[in-house]
Amino acid sequence: MTLSHEDTYECPRCNEEVRPDDEFCAHCGELFFEQVPCSVHRDRFAAGGCIICAKAFCSECGGERHRAFLCNRHLGYEIYEEHVRVFGTSDVAQAEFARDCLEKEGLHPVVFSRKASPLSLGAPDYTLFRASGEFDGHIVNELKVMVPAQEVLQAEKKLRGLRVLM
Ligand SMILES: [Zn+2]
Ligand SMILES: [Zn+2]
Ligand SMILES: [Zn+2]
Repeated sequence: MTLSHEDTYECPRCNEEVRPDDEFCAHCGELFFEQVPCSVHRDRFAAGGCIICAKAFCSECGGERHRAFLCNRHLGYEIYEEHVRVFGTSDVAQAEFARDCLEKEGLHPVVFSRKASPLSLGAPDYTLFRASGEFDGHIVNELKVMVPAQEVLQAEKKLRGLRVLM
């Protein structure tokens, strides 16, 4: 860990800024201290911190994915460029509704489209998504509402309250 400013550090793994009292990096889950206990198994040491729920877990309770550490519960979440999918729909109005509601909560949602479509919804055109979406001529035209990892729990709560998420 290198001291860049008076009270901020840089994560040695992902180079994002972290606070000196953080147990692990909020961006990649890298542990900064040894012997941090797993939040499930108090007698085991954690292997990393989940970037979504911000708790430390051992190697049995979580693992690496997308160059970040995630707990088993969040390991299956779709992550793209530091954003995590919280909701998917083919309905543009519903995607916009979800995004607007999350923005009003003070969150930072973006809508990704797998298809390079004219419906960019104000977000940049993430054509890279096409790679995973097109098989056998079927285009899965899902609009993904995504938020930064740290906002996932809050966003899911909000969307459940709105009955957008079941
Ligand atoms: Zn990091
Ligand atoms: Zn988690
Ligand atoms: Zn554990």
